Amino acid sequence: MAFRFLAVPSHRLVEHPQSLPVDERLEPDLPPVHEAVERALSGAEFRDMRAKDRLRALLQGDKPPKLGAPEAGFGASAVFAQPPQDLPALLRLADELEGLARREAGERALVWKCGDCGARYAVPVALVRQVSIRCERCGTPVELNATRSLGEESLIDPFQGAVNDSRRELAAFFREAMARGWPVLVAEDRRVTPPPPQA
Ligand SMILES: [Zn+2]
Repeated sequence: MAFRFLAVPSHRLVEHPQSLPVDERLEPDLPPVHEAVERALSGAEFRDMRAKDRLRALLQGDKPPKLGAPEAGFGASAVFAQPPQDLPALLRLADELEGLARREAGERALVWKCGDCGARYAVPVALVRQVSIRCERCGTPVELNATRSLGEESLIDPFQGAVNDSRRELAAFFREAMARGWPVLVAEDRRVTPPPPQA
């Protein structure tokens, strides 16, 4: 299920089928990879419930969401968190997301290139010793000297990087919404499936 978070001031909430205001809203700047955003929330809890289960219950549960949609292509919105009563739970969720992003940040590695064939060698920073290895491809000795490395890079894969970016962005968004006292809303993204035929 693809979804979208946003926050608007309480006094500007409208019922579906009206649309939520666009001039006054807060939205996290999330990567366009929906799977990364969904993964970002896995392992995080909100009010003793897995955050993803809460989203599903709000958007696909017995009581359909009633608030306006963020824009065309989205379902009606539901309140995910309401200040001030949900403030502590949402701040805890923000902490949890940042903690997960830190834990899964990936190791830093130093990178070298074989002078002959250009094969790349990345060694986690903690394991770097000043040794000479034989290039796997051409047999030329490669000097793993920290001062002669091509630089540092993260061993993290791009998908995990997007997951962690989503976590940090969501955490900042939740904090900002609570600081403003705005309810955090969520709506289902229906753009991935074809819209129903027009009557
Ligand atoms: Zn080589």
